[in-house]
Amino acid sequence: MSNRAFNFCAGPAALPEAVLRRAQGEMLDWHGKGLSVMEMSHRSDEYVAIAEKAEQDLRDLLSVPNNYKVLFLQGGASQQFAEIPLNLLPENGTADYIETGIWSKKAIEEGRRYGNINVAASAKAYDYLNIPGQNEWNLTPGAAYIHYASNETIGGLEFDWVPQTGDVPLVVDMSSDILSRPVDVSQFGMIYAGAQKNIGPSGLVVVIIREDLLGKARSVCPTMLNYKVAADNGSMYNTPASYSWYLSGLVFEWLKEQGGVDAMEKRNRAKKDLLYGFIDRSAFYSNPIAVNVRSWMNVPFRLADERLDKAFLAGADERRLLNLRGHRSVGGMRASIYNALGLDAVEALIAYMAEFEKEHA
Ligand code: PMP
Repeated sequence: MSNRAFNFCAGPAALPEAVLRRAQGEMLDWHGKGLSVMEMSHRSDEYVAIAEKAEQDLRDLLSVPNNYKVLFLQGGASQQFAEIPLNLLPENGTADYIETGIWSKKAIEEGRRYGNINVAASAKAYDYLNIPGQNEWNLTPGAAYIHYASNETIGGLEFDWVPQTGDVPLVVDMSSDILSRPVDVSQFGMIYAGAQKNIGPSGLVVVIIREDLLGKARSVCPTMLNYKVAADNGSMYNTPASYSWYLSGLVFEWLKEQGGVDAMEKRNRAKKDLLYGFIDRSAFYSNPIAVNVRSWMNVPFRLADERLDKAFLAGADERRLLNLRGHRSVGGMRASIYNALGLDAVEALIAYMAEFEKEHA
């Protein structure tokens, strides 16, 4: 019998129980080799096979075209905020950024340390309740790239469309919605995602980059941050986050067994429809974000009276519905419902929300 709680944490987030059990089974003695993956040389045949299979499974899941490299790097998504301009922004060039919340803002602030950043549009104009349409963007002709975050994990604002940028490479922070539904990789110059939501444990960031964007790094770019160096060395210029990479590979296998991103889209659509539907029908809970740009993965909501927040969280903990507190910068509640959570988690949450509302409304 499993004693696992429903974990609604934004990240590091819930992992599929089947994956954890498999890792547990392989922990001490991987495939009869007498050692743990954690203890393997990253240059050994066994580990290289593990790493290559993980990459291939991710390529299969997202139908990554052959002219893209898939990199397994460290430093989290935050390090990419510097790594992207160091690799892709010429010293006198300009990059366009779309600001839709805290994460894209952080990318802008970090980018400004390295060059000219033009904020081409900001959701501030809509109080972060909607995303400005592309017809409202002030794009720079000849920009080095356009950066945006497809899902703002804290604010709960998610693009339901892909910007059309012609020849200008589109760079997207997909940390909190990668693998949640199908995506056409060929529309992007580069996709990056911190692992600890829909991929695997923290300590890893996945970069999917079109080959023609490699080899443009500034001379001051640290070797460790140079995409071409990483690509030329199979993401093993130095010791990679080997165990996180292995565990991510197990998640990719699990995703394939579940039916891939098409199956995830179905399951995630059902989850978010159920939760937003319940919130919208209730006079006690609210989420004011424009319906088409509501995040599928991170559902922020408020109680009618914030003085009840503490009691709500305490009751949730008692029912083993964990980590529902909203981000410290915005307050309220947030339910992160990544791939690893099933419909049963959302049903349990809604049952509790209904019960709490009945008691306190
Ligand atoms: N971008 C987004 C959209 C995120 O959700 C996060 C983390 N929550 C980050 C960037 C930063 O990721 P990391 O902690 O891996 O640096």
